[in-house]
Amino acid sequence: MKSYLSHKTEKRKSKIDNSGWGLFAKEGIKKDEIVGIKAGHIIERQEFDKRGGFSSKTGEATLQIADDFFLGPLNSKEIEDIMMSVNHSCSPNIGFMGNIIVVAMRDIKKGEELATDYVMHINYPKFNMKCLCNQKGCRKVITGQDWQNKKLQKKYGKYFSSYLRNKF
Ligand SMILES: [Zn+2]
Repeated sequence: MKSYLSHKTEKRKSKIDNSGWGLFAKEGIKKDEIVGIKAGHIIERQEFDKRGGFSSKTGEATLQIADDFFLGPLNSKEIEDIMMSVNHSCSPNIGFMGNIIVVAMRDIKKGEELATDYVMHINYPKFNMKCLCNQKGCRKVITGQDWQNKKLQKKYGKYFSSYLRNKF
């Protein structure tokens, strides 16, 4: 089981997350081009909670695909193939088409790190993360309820995961 990543991308040491991996554009990527497609086990909310949510090692490699469903690895051996290594940024360049397909939100230049705003797929009250993206307008703290923020709904529009987009 493996997530799909475009041949135009590569995993390297992140510039956003100093201690971790990031996904980068190896060549130019056009607006709305597919960057990746998430693979994983379908995990129900109760099970995801029990496993420690987004703060567990497998949780970090998990994508929320509906209010009560998540897609991700179940053990540490599966993490590498399933993790897309996309970090959060308050000034993202990739978003969603549907729930599992990740696309460019604008033309992306060779060498840019690919990042999404976690608000576009997370609806999970317990989620809370300090943001170190350093971008203009950084929210500093990212929560699992930010998707309700009208400004962000307007800013990202169709690039929200469709299960969230359908709520506003
Ligand atoms: Zn930020």
